[in-house]
Amino acid sequence: MKDAPAVNLYTYTYAIPVNSFDHTPGKPLLSLVVPFYNESQAVAHFFHRINPILAALERFDCEIVCVNDGSADDTLAQLVAISSQDSRVRVIDLSRNFGKEAALTAGLNEAQGDAVIPIDADLQDPPELIPRLIAEWQSGYEVVLAKRVNRDSDSYMKRKTAALFYRLYNAVSDIKLPENVGDFRLIDRQVLESLKQLPENRRFMKGLFAWVGFKTATVEYAREARSAGESKFSGWRLWNFALEGITSFSTVPLRWWTYCGLAISLFAFIYGLIIIFKTLIYGIDMPGYASILTVVLFLGGIQLIGIGVLGEYLGRTYLESKGRPIYLIRRRYQQAED
Ligand code: UDP
Ligand code: MG
Repeated sequence: MKDAPAVNLYTYTYAIPVNSFDHTPGKPLLSLVVPFYNESQAVAHFFHRINPILAALERFDCEIVCVNDGSADDTLAQLVAISSQDSRVRVIDLSRNFGKEAALTAGLNEAQGDAVIPIDADLQDPPELIPRLIAEWQSGYEVVLAKRVNRDSDSYMKRKTAALFYRLYNAVSDIKLPENVGDFRLIDRQVLESLKQLPENRRFMKGLFAWVGFKTATVEYAREARSAGESKFSGWRLWNFALEGITSFSTVPLRWWTYCGLAISLFAFIYGLIIIFKTLIYGIDMPGYASILTVVLFLGGIQLIGIGVLGEYLGRTYLESKGRPIYLIRRRYQQAED
């Protein structure tokens, strides 16, 4: 594929490596995958805190795959400047904002490590946990989950709705989501390759991670507050995300309507019989508009909700059937190797 023309904003030369990252033979390579979306204030904090931790991992080579998810601020310029100084840092610039799930997918596809750790740019996932994740991985686990033991940094509403979401999700989905586990985790190369085989376009990463399975260990940590900037997930976006999650992993909501319809039809049938017998015994009843109207409106509402649920799934089928790529890369940046 031909690369986009050079932008003169960034003056240093760059190479476009595709599977050409060559690390010291014998040392395993660890990849951090970091999505950045308007994280201008968080970039410096992130590298400041991550660098000493990676430096302490002497038995590993590290790469940091930074995905710029169409930031409108100077996040990209900052990342590019850092990668020009640091050969471990690669920058993948997406052509626009594709959302965190797509950005993460891009990063995972680009990562070349033997073990890969997706981590948020805002330091809410403490990088200090990385050595513990690695220790579990080396003891033979293919997936090491980082589980938040407290979510004090999140608002009351967010905690409650998150708990409700996990309850609902696990009730309707065959593949259970571990509660309070985000995208922050370590996955082995083999798990990553399996993930890559999942072709879906609309990616609910937490669900996909759970779907692939593998031998899993869990380590616990306390979730911190954001290092800088604001959360990119408003209440409305989270609601949509939750719908996305449930509809991508369960068809139970579709089936509910069958039962709902059956129950209502049965009720209507019995009620009909009662009316027939009453009419036969007592003659014609006084017609009651109110009750008829209530029943009609109630059923109308139920039908509309049912159609809405159908539409939700049909919409997803439509989007998947187009087979569009999950994201588009505008350009890759990495320090030129001579
Ligand atoms: N993010 C992204 N694309 C988006 C929204 C968010 O790449 O459209 C990144 C963001 O830069 C951060 C991570 O996803 O690194 C988590 O976002 P945020 O902290 O806003 O989410 P929260 O922690 O509030 O769930
Ligand atoms: Mg965050």
